[in-house]
Amino acid sequence: PFAFRGKHVTVAGLGVSGIPAAKVLHGLGARVTVVNDGDDERARAQAAELEPLGVTVRLGDGATLPEGTELIVTAPGWKPDKPLFTAAREAGVPVWGDVELAWRLRSPDSAPWLAVTGTNGKTTTVQMLASILKAAGLRTAAVGNIGVSLLDAVTGDEEYDVLAVELSSYQLHWAPSLRAHSAAVLNLAPDHLDWHGSMEAYAADKGRIYEGNRVACVYNADATDKPSTEDLVREADVEEGCRAIGFTLGTPAPGQLGVVEGILVDRAFVEDRQKNAQELAEVSDVNPSAPHNIANALAAAALARAFGVPAAAVRDGLRAFTPDAHRIAHVADVDGVAYVDDSKATNTHATEASLAAYESIVWIAGGLAKGATFDELVAGAAKRLRGAVLIGADRALIREALARHAPEVPVVDLDRTDTGAMLQAVQEARRLARPGDTVLLAPACASMDMFTNYNKRGDAFAEAVRELGT
Ligand code: ADP
Repeated sequence: PFAFRGKHVTVAGLGVSGIPAAKVLHGLGARVTVVNDGDDERARAQAAELEPLGVTVRLGDGATLPEGTELIVTAPGWKPDKPLFTAAREAGVPVWGDVELAWRLRSPDSAPWLAVTGTNGKTTTVQMLASILKAAGLRTAAVGNIGVSLLDAVTGDEEYDVLAVELSSYQLHWAPSLRAHSAAVLNLAPDHLDWHGSMEAYAADKGRIYEGNRVACVYNADATDKPSTEDLVREADVEEGCRAIGFTLGTPAPGQLGVVEGILVDRAFVEDRQKNAQELAEVSDVNPSAPHNIANALAAAALARAFGVPAAAVRDGLRAFTPDAHRIAHVADVDGVAYVDDSKATNTHATEASLAAYESIVWIAGGLAKGATFDELVAGAAKRLRGAVLIGADRALIREALARHAPEVPVVDLDRTDTGAMLQAVQEARRLARPGDTVLLAPACASMDMFTNYNKRGDAFAEAVRELGT
């Protein structure tokens, strides 16, 4: 194990991962320097929290490698081509992310990790998984980008039997020695490509989650993208006996999990040798039971089953699960029209999934496109669109895609980005909707042009809907 006492460790980036990392490393006797690009009020307040402990903080200089650095622990979002990392490579200094640090700090007999990554559905799947594990009577937590931090989970006093771990592609990039019990890649669509450099590099970073898996590599058997998640399993170096387990929304082949006549079925981990399939739960046990979310449930079930969880706990855990806010959340019915908040649909892949979940939709979309194109999304959903209301900075891109692929769909283009815009958007949507329709906020864009984050955007939508109702 890495001995931290007296070691000069540089923590790159203040913030959600940097501050706890600095504290833990300092507690282990390391000489800690934190470097941070920004030098604003918030950074100063954070520095003031660390400096009294004896941690050195350098604000406004995240590029220079501090003299004598023996290890860098970086915030996951820091891009690999930063000058700090170039300097580290030249000096032969290793770079770990927050996940690598947690992995190295856990005790050898501590809880195994069931890990989940993917472009969309990570948080939901990890929470479903934790719910299933709890239903099986296991001490667990959903950790990673959500809930308990990974570092707290491995260094804190709370004891766990198993952890349900959400991992982003950034975190995986910086976690070379992570070895999960079992892992799932839910799906792969282009995202964060400017960070990773290319689709291949992004896929390779996601694929790291399978490295060294002991029991199961869970992949999406329905994916048509290249590379597929199954390709990533094939390329991974796993422990002997580790199985590749596919999940599908169709009838499962032997060794897969899937759906048969409204029942979630396991043909990979069947306890009863007389049977060739084990029923797990009904589709209606999954909330919401939209297709993409059934896929999430199957992935969670596969990981739980790989850990030996009985079928009844899968059903109980799925029934006990309620999704987080702003993820296909039903806000209200007004005049026979359902209003649904999927503000968390910040990219086209997520939006494609939510548009596929409804028949006749008035779609509220727009915001910051982050370099995305909308042709495929709009062409795929055109038949189901009653109308569209566009908001935000990059709405013209969506308007043009609608003109190309759905010219008959009425579009309201709101040329305003103030906070009152959402109320007007909801009012316009109401005018377009007919009874039986769904007004769906699934923006396919980031929110920061108009709101602090996607939560605030969803809250504004829900508030506007409540105003309609009164
Ligand atoms: P993540 O943690 O990966 O961002 P979430 O569970 O928070 O994922 O869901 C993010 C968005 O992606 C939601 O808007 C949801 O509608 C959509 N989504 C969830 N699961 C999937 C999936 N399996 N495929 C495509 N989109 C999905």
